[in-house]
Amino acid sequence: MILVLGAGLAGLAAADRFTRAGRQTLVVEKGASVGGLSRTVLHNGYRFDLGGHRFLTHDASIEALVRNLLGEDLVQVPRKSQIYLRGRYVDYPLCPANAVAGLGPATAWRIFSDLGREKMKGLRHRRPPVSLADWVIARFGRTLFDLYFKEYTEKVWGLPCERVSMEWIARRIDGLSLVKALAHSVCKLSGRNLHTLTDQFLYPRLGIGQLADRLADRIAAVNPVWTGTEVLKVYHGDSRIRSVLLQNREGRREVVADHFVSSLPVTTLIDRLRPEAPAPVRAAAAHLSYRSLVTVTVMVGRERITDVSWMYLPEKRIPFGRIHEPTNWSRAMAPSGRTHLVAEYFCTRGDRIWERSEQDLVDTTVGELSRLGFFERREVMDAHLLRVPHAYPVFEVGYADHLKVITEYLKRFENLQLVGRTGAFGYLNMDHALASGIRGAESILARTGTAVLRPAGSSARPLALPEGRPA
Ligand SMILES: Cc1cc2nc3c(=O)[nH]c(=O)nc-3n(C[C@H](O)[C@H](O)[C@H](O)COP(=O)(O)OP(=O)(O)OC[C@H]3O[C@@H](n4cnc5c(N)ncnc54)[C@H](O)[C@@H]3O)c2cc1C
Repeated sequence: MILVLGAGLAGLAAADRFTRAGRQTLVVEKGASVGGLSRTVLHNGYRFDLGGHRFLTHDASIEALVRNLLGEDLVQVPRKSQIYLRGRYVDYPLCPANAVAGLGPATAWRIFSDLGREKMKGLRHRRPPVSLADWVIARFGRTLFDLYFKEYTEKVWGLPCERVSMEWIARRIDGLSLVKALAHSVCKLSGRNLHTLTDQFLYPRLGIGQLADRLADRIAAVNPVWTGTEVLKVYHGDSRIRSVLLQNREGRREVVADHFVSSLPVTTLIDRLRPEAPAPVRAAAAHLSYRSLVTVTVMVGRERITDVSWMYLPEKRIPFGRIHEPTNWSRAMAPSGRTHLVAEYFCTRGDRIWERSEQDLVDTTVGELSRLGFFERREVMDAHLLRVPHAYPVFEVGYADHLKVITEYLKRFENLQLVGRTGAFGYLNMDHALASGIRGAESILARTGTAVLRPAGSSARPLALPEGRPA
């Protein structure tokens, strides 16, 4: 029996692979629904992701999986993004024309002369970058760094740019798309093209959560998927994980399995191991952290507010960092004649934003969005607040040394695979999370000699629930 911990995309992709290989699998998920960070909330007829999730991949097998799962429900969406800078909405990629139009000729001139200067410097020997500040200034110059990167990055991470590891950018992150956008414009100037920046992306008609729901349905036709079930403890002995203690509405039970795939935040996994992990490993885990997110969604009684996919708001005086309008991604995301804006507040669990009351955050969001001219207060019909822990693994300078201590320790468990964004503490996008789950499953299947693959969606006799004993 294989136990998959966490039903985000990584855990579900692993469980789907096991199911197709005919292996008895149980998926356990703490949340009330599957999907993890890639789920879609349905509130009074309005749908929204936890921050808009576009699907984009360069892996043909992952794209085929997603197309196969969603079929006609996968729509192609034009991408249009803007940054709100100094009271103006500037389109990006920031090409010379819109930089001049949006930022004024003097600032545009400073930006592009910085770019030229940094390029010249790059031809000479330069100390390798360590922090995000080193990396960005070396590539884009001080003007752009001060204008956009500094404030936005500090909003996302809650750390000075000098403490954010450059590896974050080196890992080609989508979260700060402007990085790519600007890289794209620079590359264009130098005649190269950055293929990751596209004008279109794929999106499920009913929100990104449809992808996880379809995967879960396919698994659940054969193997159980238990939502509302939290992993409280992970028992081990003799270099193997033996069992987990689960808690759900029916109480607690211990479940024994032969193999375990974990997509739980790696810090949670370390915390729940019994016997406890050695002190240096627990100390290393205490040095790793995740950034959280609070989303405030405001429902408005009109058909459309903006024409953009995302809008970035780097300025510190605006308390949220990004907004999106789900109906620009799929009209099915709101009732007809209505729309909504989702504002993302980047925060840390327990900090001032995380702890603010729902009413206070809704009032602030409505006030700020109406001040920015998106709608008038009287148009607001409803609002919804969601707190999302473990949204972004924090790549603080030096994090890799702590992560190494943890992964070296966990390697001793021959029947444990870490997968996914929070599970492997990597900045994975959805396609990478799916691929990581599939790879994790295949590594177990290769070791246990399973070769049979059932066609996707083929029905089979539902498996009996796994052995468990009340604890
Ligand atoms: C704001 C935001 C915007 C994003 N936008 C994009 C985008 O546009 N495109 C893109 O490709 N990617 C995007 N991503 C990334 C994408 O969300 C992730 O790559 C993907 O969802 C990661 O899936 P996962 O399964 O690895 O992790 P998760 O989704 O974090 O899954 C882990 C699961 O484990 C569960 N769990 C945790 N603790 C326990 C426990 N003790 N017991 C049981 N279960 C537990 C959690 O509830 C969760 O369901 C975005 C992420 C964020 C935060």
